[in-house]
Parts: sequence; C-alpha cells; structure tokens
Amino acid sequence: MTTVPVVISGRPDRRLGGASPDIDRDSGAAASDAMPTDGPLVDPFGRVHDDLRISVTDRCNLRCTYCMPERGMTFLPRSTLLSFDEIVRVAGVARGLGVTSIRLTGGEPLVRTGVADLVARLSTLGLDDLALTTNGMLLGPLARRLAGAGLNRVNISCDSLRSEPFGSIRRRGELAAVLQAMDVAEAADLAPVKVNVVLLRGRNSDEILDFARFARTTGRIVRFIEFMPLDADGSWDRDQLVPGDEVFRTISAEWPLDPVDGQPSTAPAERFRFRDGGGEIGLISSVTEPFCGTCNRLRLTADGAIRNCLFSDDERPVSDLLRGGGSDAELALVLRQAVWGKRSGHGINEPGFLRPARSMSMIGG
Ligand code: SAM
Ligand code: SF4
Repeated sequence: MTTVPVVISGRPDRRLGGASPDIDRDSGAAASDAMPTDGPLVDPFGRVHDDLRISVTDRCNLRCTYCMPERGMTFLPRSTLLSFDEIVRVAGVARGLGVTSIRLTGGEPLVRTGVADLVARLSTLGLDDLALTTNGMLLGPLARRLAGAGLNRVNISCDSLRSEPFGSIRRRGELAAVLQAMDVAEAADLAPVKVNVVLLRGRNSDEILDFARFARTTGRIVRFIEFMPLDADGSWDRDQLVPGDEVFRTISAEWPLDPVDGQPSTAPAERFRFRDGGGEIGLISSVTEPFCGTCNRLRLTADGAIRNCLFSDDERPVSDLLRGGGSDAELALVLRQAVWGKRSGHGINEPGFLRPARSMSMIGG
C-alpha cells in the first residue's frame, strides 16, 4: 500500500509564542486506497472518530445573536426529527464502530420532551462519556433526573456574568436562572460543570478576567470559545471574535497559567490551570488556531444526517435507511462513508471558504 504524508495544522504551543507546529502525519492511506470496511471509524488522514454529537432538536428557547436570528427562524417539521428509537439505533451502530463518547446538543436539547429517557437508553451502550450541552434555562428541575438516568456531566453556556450583556447577547432568558442551574447540576453530581463563553468584541470581551475569577472561585471550568461563522444572521466577521491567544495573555498577565498535563490531543479545548492552584480554564480557538489535525468528532443532525464537520455541507442521510427498513450494516456503511469523506481541515482561513448552508442550531454545536 502506498502511503501519503499529510500535513494538517496542529495545536499551537504557547511556550513557542503561539506558533502552530504542523503535524506530519503518515496517513497510512493513499488517496486511491479503499475505505476500510472494518476496524474503527477512520478518515483518509488517519484520524480515528470516537466522539458523536447528537442533536435532538433544532428548536431553542433562546435566540443568541451568534447563533439564531431574533425572529423568523424556520424549524424542522416535527415529523422529520429522529425518534428516540431511531437515535438510539444510530448511536448503537456508532458504538459498534468504536464511538465511546456521546454528547447531546441542539438547538436546546432540554426543550425536547423526555431527554432523560433518551439518556437512560444511551447510558446502556457502555460509553466512556455521556454529556450534554445546554443553555441552562431548563436544567434546574431536570438535573437530578438526568444524572439518575446516567448523564455524566454538562456544559452550560453563559456568555456574561452581568445581566445587561447577558440579555443583549442571548436575547431571552435570565442570568440568575443559568447560575442557579450550575449549582443544581453540581448538587446532582453532574460535575465538573464546564461553562461555555462565546466572546464577542465590545460586548462581553471586557469580562475575560471576571470569568477567570469565576473559574477560580467556583471550580467550574470556563471555556472561552471563538465566535465562528455559523450564525444564522450571517453577520460574522473576524473583528468580532476575540482570539484565544488574547484571552491567554490577558489572564496569564494577572494569574499565570500552566498547560494541564496529559490532556487528550483530540479535545477541542486547550486546558490551562492557574499556577497558584485555583482552578482551570479552556480555550477553544477554532478560527485562529484550528485543531482539525486531531479532530475525532462526527455529528448526527436532528433530522437524521451524518455530518463530518461543522463547516462542511457534506451530509449523508440515515433517516431514509431508518425509516425504510435499512439494516445496521447499511447504517454502518453511511457512518464510514461520512468519516471517509472528511476534509483535512475546515478551511475558514482559506480564500474560497464558504459558510455552510445550515447555521449552528440547525447542525448541533
Ligand atoms: N443550546 C445549547 C447551548 O447553548 O449550550 C446547546 C447548543 S449550542 C449550538 C452549543 C454551543 O455552541 C454553545 O456553547 C454555544 O454558545 C455555541 N455556539 C453557538 N453558535 C456559535 C458560534 N457562531 N460560534 C461559536 N460558538 C457558538
Ligand atoms: Fe439556542 Fe444554544 Fe443557539 Fe443560544 S447557542 S440560540 S441557546 S442553540
């Protein structure tokens, strides 16, 4: 078999001043090589995919500016949403292909009735990790039930610690409810709670140190996410995002940071501990420092399509197989083909980049 060395960008090394070393990968596969028909889900660049993001709905009770339009969003007809039986079936096939980690997302996953039942069923698959990303608004009354059903942990999105910017960015909902949901999640043992913050220049970018202090005092892991071109309004531009490196420099000037030892190379967040021992933060610098070289994720959309990248329109439906008597072997083939069709990188920083047709809430973040 001929092998092709593939160079795809890796994580920056902040000890090198943020330079991004290229990863020299021997893909083990030539472009003309056939897709493997057994073993783990692998793409032509040698990346093994063991992390599945499942969107359970494209609906949401908030309208964050960086994700959804204020009004006029068209939602999927309910009949097109995969049933829990269908989701569990796809997840089971994925488990058989080596997926060990599942995250439920959306839209807002908790607006879908009965998510705890889905969690209970997924938890029987023998996963290493079963998690959920939520805006927190409905988590309070559900946290115990979700934990009892087998959910391991939650990521809670919260873009400001002040009511006014919180309201203007998220457009609906209340900060107090989200903060309370974090307490309830911890009391239910859905810990450690990770707090997702999308930083927007001039709106919440002055809260970097406030969030770092919040991480230090609460023990919650605050993850600063770069604004990505996935907003339904199409208003994204580079000037609005706050680069991860700026976040790193701002925080470490106040409280020195050290990289967390032994972090998995596939994790999207680059993790740092405060040198004085007071907690942890993460940087998800998807735009300025893409980590495509170690991506291990694939997605199932709420209407039953497998997506191999947030930024690619390459979608392969499984809904027709699920509803038309397709076999598990046929479903497995679609999963394999989706992963095999993955590009080396998301291409945001390339001249010909085109935004994907579906925005974040329609894909599943
Ligand atoms: N509704 C849930 C929530 O907000 O946590 C789950 C779905 S949401 C799409 C998942 C994550 O994507 C959230 O942390 C959200 O802040 C983030 N997100 C949404 N649109 C984004 C964008 N354009 N750029 C970066 N992150 C985004
Ligand atoms: Fe809803 Fe989450 Fe999108 Fe905000 S980021 S609009 S909470 S799906």
